[in-house]
Amino acid sequence: MNEDESSSLLVTIFDINSVWWSKHDHGAKEEESFLHCLESLMIFINSHLLMKHSNKLGFIVCNGDSSIFVYPDREGGLKDLASVRDGKYEEFIRLNDNIVDEVKRIYNEALEGHAIGESNKATKLSGALSQAHCYIHRLMKESTAVDKLSARILVVKASSDVAPQYMPIMNCIFAAQKNNIVIDGCVLGDDSGYLQQAADITGGNYLKVTSIAGLLQYLLWVFLPDPHTRKSLVLPSAVQIDYRGACFCHRQLVDIGFVCSVCLSIYCKFIPRCMTCQTLFKLPDLPMGSKPKKKKKQ
Ligand SMILES: [Zn+2]
Ligand SMILES: [Zn+2]
Repeated sequence: MNEDESSSLLVTIFDINSVWWSKHDHGAKEEESFLHCLESLMIFINSHLLMKHSNKLGFIVCNGDSSIFVYPDREGGLKDLASVRDGKYEEFIRLNDNIVDEVKRIYNEALEGHAIGESNKATKLSGALSQAHCYIHRLMKESTAVDKLSARILVVKASSDVAPQYMPIMNCIFAAQKNNIVIDGCVLGDDSGYLQQAADITGGNYLKVTSIAGLLQYLLWVFLPDPHTRKSLVLPSAVQIDYRGACFCHRQLVDIGFVCSVCLSIYCKFIPRCMTCQTLFKLPDLPMGSKPKKKKKQ
């Protein structure tokens, strides 16, 4: 492999769900720990861009209301060349100012909505993943065969998993697997079964950060090296992965369920007709208590 001609695209998804950030006891004031987390992420993405001149970046924030592309911004051009200070690289100034301002604005907006009881929803992670996919797909199409582009997604997630997002998130994970996109998961709150599966399926790293104060160190150690380099590093070993699927009828995680033999939809209890593909299940005369359909995995 000619490493010099390859460039790496990193799409960072930051969960800024104000419900989690404002409720949780992070050992510091909420505002402080949020800003600390944002600062750590900024250093991390700057480090990624500094690793190689041709490296590229995408930055998406998501909360209970929406998922928003923060970088690259819609204008795409330099905001204000007069603001180039101290011989800094203009791209970095634009990137840092834009991302920090935008993230703070969206966070505060959601916080106000939260205060008046409007924003109390689950993070739109599947939307953010889909946006990341679209962006990666576009850049891959634009890149020539000579400059090979490898892409990965880092999800920094705070709030807990929600069952209704199971289907769209799993679809995003399988799309990533098909396109050789690595998904890394960095979790600040409870363990996330979705991100564990995403990292396992796509060959990424999953890490639960116990102390937000040490976030930067984890980011630089575990998530900065590209997947190619990671093979040479000693990284945290894989954790026990929660591989449960959500049933299609109630969107609840199930340990054992019924699987449609035609379309593989999962159900927590027996139903006579598959809700996805409308297949009718013939019910043989079975003695009470025995299972009429195949048993599903764990
Ligand atoms: Zn169900
Ligand atoms: Zn079916």
